[in-house]
Amino acid sequence: MWIKSVEGKNFRNYKALSIELDKGINLLYGDNAQGKTNILEIIYICSTSRSHRGSKDKELILFGEEEAHLRLFVYKRKDLHKIDIHYKKNGKKGIAIDGVPVKKASEMFGYLNVVMFSPDDLAVVKNGPAERRRFLDKEICQIDPVYMDDLVKYNKILDHRNRLLKEIPFRSSLLDTLDVWDEQLAAYGNRIIEKRKEFIVNTGVMCRGIHETLTSGKEKMELEYEENVSSEDLREKLKESRERDIHTAQTNRGPHRDDFIIKANGIDLRTFGSQGQQRSAAVSLKLSEIKMIKDVTGEDPVLLLDDVLSELDGSRQESLLKEINNIQTVITGTGMDDFIKNNLSIGKKYFVKEGTVREMSLDMEE
Ligand code: ATP
Ligand code: MG
Repeated sequence: MWIKSVEGKNFRNYKALSIELDKGINLLYGDNAQGKTNILEIIYICSTSRSHRGSKDKELILFGEEEAHLRLFVYKRKDLHKIDIHYKKNGKKGIAIDGVPVKKASEMFGYLNVVMFSPDDLAVVKNGPAERRRFLDKEICQIDPVYMDDLVKYNKILDHRNRLLKEIPFRSSLLDTLDVWDEQLAAYGNRIIEKRKEFIVNTGVMCRGIHETLTSGKEKMELEYEENVSSEDLREKLKESRERDIHTAQTNRGPHRDDFIIKANGIDLRTFGSQGQQRSAAVSLKLSEIKMIKDVTGEDPVLLLDDVLSELDGSRQESLLKEINNIQTVITGTGMDDFIKNNLSIGKKYFVKEGTVREMSLDMEE
């Protein structure tokens, strides 16, 4: 699949944005804080319905405006699809595909798959469990709409249970209502744990091959899911932990506390990896994501590289760029130097300044 055009109205620092993309490599360059990542954000939102930065819908609307609109035209094989998103300051966002309103984010599934790679992703190995969980959830949601629905429901129930736990010390009659919530939390939690475990096994296999090439055969990479509680025991453990949960006013057991282990040659890279090893493992994880999406959906995802090229050394850049072959890619950077040394064959080049975008001729010298 590939994106033909990106439009935005009153989105972030854009009053009006309209660009055509090339099927190959697209560069967005300009100084800091001009609006480069905002363009990638539009693309990411049109794929997943959410901001990759975790921003709230309201924050996406240009300061002082009431509404914002996004529109993408995407080719999937020979078919051209239109994705529209409409934000209102005081209301829920609306999503439409080919003019037909969509009720749940999971209904957007399959129209546009993206792989976003930003400096945050480079830190996924050394970051804490919460960031790794977020990484895991984002990846699985891209290939499994049922998982996305389960996760949304699990988080809602968890939120409700936590609010209840805060109330119980003041209204003990509420204690009885916990049973119903625990039952549901365990049901959705089970499914989440099982899917994540399966995903980690499959990704582990892919990572191993990719990482071997990336490190010239020096490192054997392994992934292992680290569960806070097993899916079979979840219901039981929720019950057991009630007293503590009420005391701490939070749910202490469940997949919202899980993590995964990333090893190289048997060493846990989360705590013992060098900076370089941690980065290489992060690149392998991302590369496996591209492969996984292709395997599961039969379509190449669109690759979004936000300021990562300049962060990677030669061999890691090379491995990443090898994967770009035939995949539509949008790359941001502050100067052309970030790209030129890679001999990229550039399709289109845009200069971004203060919320305006200008197409530059490809042979124009900087
Ligand atoms: P960098 O190179 O530093 O990553 P960038 O070009 O990627 O910069 P963006 O993240 O796209 O920059 O942000 C551009 C600007 O958009 C920022 O200065 C930010 O303050 C502004 N901005 C963010 N949200 C809004 C909003 N809702 N309304 C207006 N401006 C906004
Ligand atoms: Mg940026």
